[in-house]
Amino acid sequence: MTDTSKSLEMHPQGWGDPAAATPLPESARGLIELAFGVDRRPAVDHVELPASGLAPGLLDGLRELLGDEHVLADDATRRLRTRGKSTPDLLKARAGDLSDAPDAVVRPDGHDQVAAVLAYAVEHHLAVVPFGGGTSVTGGLAARREGYAGLISLDLIRMKRLLSVDQVSMTATLEPGLRGPEAEALLAEQGLTLGHYPQSFEFATIGGFAATRSSGQSSAGYGRFDALVMGLRVATPRGEMVLGSSPANAAGPDLRQLLLGSEGTFGVITAVTVRVRRLPAVKVYEGWRWPSFVEGAAAMRHLAQAGLLPTVLRLSDEAETSINLARPDAIGGESAGGCMMIAGYEGDPEIVEARRSVVTAILTGLGGENLGEEPGQSWAHGRFNAPYLRDALLDAGVLVETLETVTFWSNTDRLYADVKAALEASLGEGTIVLCHLSHVYETGCSLYFTVAAKQGDDPLGQWLDAKAAASDAIIDAGASITHHHAVGTDHKPWLAQEIGPLGVSVLRAVKADLDPTGILNPGVLIP
Ligand SMILES: Cc1cc2nc3c(=O)[nH]c(=O)nc-3n(C[C@H](O)[C@H](O)[C@H](O)COP(=O)(O)OP(=O)(O)OC[C@H]3O[C@@H](n4cnc5c(N)ncnc54)[C@H](O)[C@@H]3O)c2cc1C
Repeated sequence: MTDTSKSLEMHPQGWGDPAAATPLPESARGLIELAFGVDRRPAVDHVELPASGLAPGLLDGLRELLGDEHVLADDATRRLRTRGKSTPDLLKARAGDLSDAPDAVVRPDGHDQVAAVLAYAVEHHLAVVPFGGGTSVTGGLAARREGYAGLISLDLIRMKRLLSVDQVSMTATLEPGLRGPEAEALLAEQGLTLGHYPQSFEFATIGGFAATRSSGQSSAGYGRFDALVMGLRVATPRGEMVLGSSPANAAGPDLRQLLLGSEGTFGVITAVTVRVRRLPAVKVYEGWRWPSFVEGAAAMRHLAQAGLLPTVLRLSDEAETSINLARPDAIGGESAGGCMMIAGYEGDPEIVEARRSVVTAILTGLGGENLGEEPGQSWAHGRFNAPYLRDALLDAGVLVETLETVTFWSNTDRLYADVKAALEASLGEGTIVLCHLSHVYETGCSLYFTVAAKQGDDPLGQWLDAKAAASDAIIDAGASITHHHAVGTDHKPWLAQEIGPLGVSVLRAVKADLDPTGILNPGVLIP
């Protein structure tokens, strides 16, 4: 879980550590051949980057601020800071389209250097894209460059310190460039954990989690990232903001919430104070089988409303269960049928035991079948592996992508049916749509869809159409365009519908105040 030895740079055309590239399991290969036929679509080898358009004088100015070695304009570095890791991002990279490459990558160390870069960017009208782990799946790193003297990627890779720990209040202040495993390793030295495990955990950063209001697989127990944040330090073009001087207060609207989820458009987060927990002595994960998705979902709602959530709780629908998506090592293998639920418990042994026994009694009473620890441990073991399979699927001619949304319990059946229908209608016969409930609350839950279809001649256009149809269905059903992937550039039109013209106007007003010349992530988040 805290392995920091993995390569720090991801594959430029795919997900994760190139050394960990995963071929499709034999069982999955058979399934794909059956469903889609075989149609190899390898990525192009040779990619040409547009030349850096930054005037040499501007590069020199940045070098004076940060030192020569921390201002990079070589193709290899710029390529690694081009866009994020959505399937459209990968399809473009695989086709050799790197037109969003930054003109230069700057690597400040510390708040003051970030502030200096922002001041320089304002003076010379450079667009600035804060870059954490580069795992955005909503186009959050594809800022607009037209109208600017250049576009620079502000890479937070050097800002990786644990700045302070308060063992009495149980808080820790972390720098934004720490990736998930690095933050956990530093906290573990103090006997602490953050407990934030999104599927992108290995590469995503503390600053990125805050900037996108991320949610992890253990959020039922530890809380969403925005709920873990106690304080923020932010560098804006107008100066510094330091927010969060108390655990809770009534001092007007909570401005931390304005910065959380601001996706680099209001400022650069340079430090995050988070709530931490003692390292759990015990971690147990187990599987449950439900006769149907509806019954499993009702059981989740029951637990959430009784205040008895385990640390991890997720439920696959019949289709996702039948191909074993919850267990990447077993995809395409024989399935137990019904709907698979994973329940996990972390903490002190007596607390884990007490919670587990009461949850077990409730789930059994509601008709669940306990499958024991093997499926749960297998899920936990492979929990970060599934994204590696996407590259192999794209190679095999399969269009594969995920999307997520969230709604109230009373609306989940409609939302589930409408999104599924929209995706199937757009992508056509043979499309596979899988779903799981990924996060649960007392009042509702998040639905996470995985879609697979045969790639046509224009897989990018094919996906953009399907995504637009699904997004329309989400908004028409009264749900949110995103539970945890954030807005980026991809969700902007639907954000505008979700928050209405007045909401858009408030966002624009805040942007105009904090970033009056509009240098920060132009075109991202704000409609
Ligand atoms: C395979 C895969 C699985 C994923 N699973 C999950 C999941 O389980 N849960 C989840 O919540 N998300 C998930 N995501 C989405 C993604 O990992 C999150 O959005 C993550 O929080 C982004 O962090 P990052 O450090 O990679 O940020 P980046 O991708 O580098 O940046 C994201 C946005 O935040 C801005 N930004 C980054 N750092 C800062 C900063 N310090 N200050 C201001 N702005 C900043 C960027 O400009 C950009 O707009 C997944 C993505 C992938 C590819």
